[in-house]
Amino acid sequence: MKPTNSVFTGLETTVFERMSRLAMEHNAINLGQGFPDVDGPQDVREVAAHTLLEGPNQYPPMLGLPALRQAVADNNKRFWDLDIDWQSEVVITSGATEALADSIFAMVEPGDEVILIEPLYDCYLSLVKRAGATPVFVQVNAPDWELNEEQLRKAFSSQTKAILINNPMNPTAKVFSRQELQLIADLCIEFDCYAICDEVYEHIVFEDQQHTPLMTLPGMRDRCIRIGSAGKTFSLTGWKVGYITAPPNLLEPIAKAHQFVTFTTPPNLQKAVAYGLNKEDAYYAALESDLRSKRDLISKPLAQMGFRVLPCEGTYFVTCDFSATGFRGNDVAFCKKMVEEAGVAAVPISAFYGTEGPQTLVRFCFCKKDEVLQEALRHLQTWMGQFAAV
Ligand code: PMP
Ligand code: GLN
Repeated sequence: MKPTNSVFTGLETTVFERMSRLAMEHNAINLGQGFPDVDGPQDVREVAAHTLLEGPNQYPPMLGLPALRQAVADNNKRFWDLDIDWQSEVVITSGATEALADSIFAMVEPGDEVILIEPLYDCYLSLVKRAGATPVFVQVNAPDWELNEEQLRKAFSSQTKAILINNPMNPTAKVFSRQELQLIADLCIEFDCYAICDEVYEHIVFEDQQHTPLMTLPGMRDRCIRIGSAGKTFSLTGWKVGYITAPPNLLEPIAKAHQFVTFTTPPNLQKAVAYGLNKEDAYYAALESDLRSKRDLISKPLAQMGFRVLPCEGTYFVTCDFSATGFRGNDVAFCKKMVEEAGVAAVPISAFYGTEGPQTLVRFCFCKKDEVLQEALRHLQTWMGQFAAV
């Protein structure tokens, strides 16, 4: 028989699913896949439940419910001072994952190059390849994950159609500095290309750090496609409600891709997310401070156990280097042993690379109840004791 599509055939199941399955098999505490263990705000869920019962439950408008598109535009204004026309510049998708697929399919084609920054969120590479474009990799490296000007410049060419940036960045927990964003903006303008900005963690940025959407930089308003996710902002990852903000001429083909990928998103969830986005500033402040305290709760004990805990400026992930613990083996072996023996699941960072990546880094997800984190730390403490620190 003829072969099935070469991008997806034989592709590994995502590391998140694999680690969650392993966690279940071993009855382990799952600090691997990124999802909170407490559902988001009750009032937001009540709006969804009420709307589900009261209806309507038929196809909403293809671009999304007007109330939600308005709420996305308002949120852009409230937090980032972006003036967005909700009618021509916003589309609602079934999660940021669909938003990424729609954006990539609408923007690139064979012959185009797309710059990807490694470590990268796993779906980027397959989507770019499926669109027929050529990925060009630029790595940022631990511990600072700083973008190197020379390397980035080298990645741009006359073939570059777009750069995909994830800010705040999963799995590095890095928030791009103003200078780095300026560098990206300058190169996008010089090489006349677009930026697909995965900003799903826009509201999870800690203390003295400041999230700046690339779209707000001079000259970038018309070149950026900005993606958000209700899953992250409202701790409701299973809802899969995403949103794209882009200038009308870019949104137009993206909406056409959307109309043939999912066409629309469940109306009750859209209505509830519209309500959620309009929540008071205190909601957003609490999201940040709760997660910050969880970050702090696990960071020090992890360091005391012998991990080198890398800086965490945003997202709900912390990356640790285990090379000083005396463990012999790579990150995949470390995570496998840890889930089997310590009963704690994490994610090996090498899974976030299309090319060769580092081999001694693991990512812990900390959006879990304090007692769950404490229990995981107890398990780890005992388990880590067996390795002779070097
Ligand atoms: N981008 C990044 C960087 C993510 O971490 C996630 C996490 N799930 C997504 C996109 C996908 O978001 P969604 O669940 O809304 O599809
Ligand atoms: N974004 C989540 C993470 O990084 C995973 C989402 C998924 O499993 N597709 O853990």
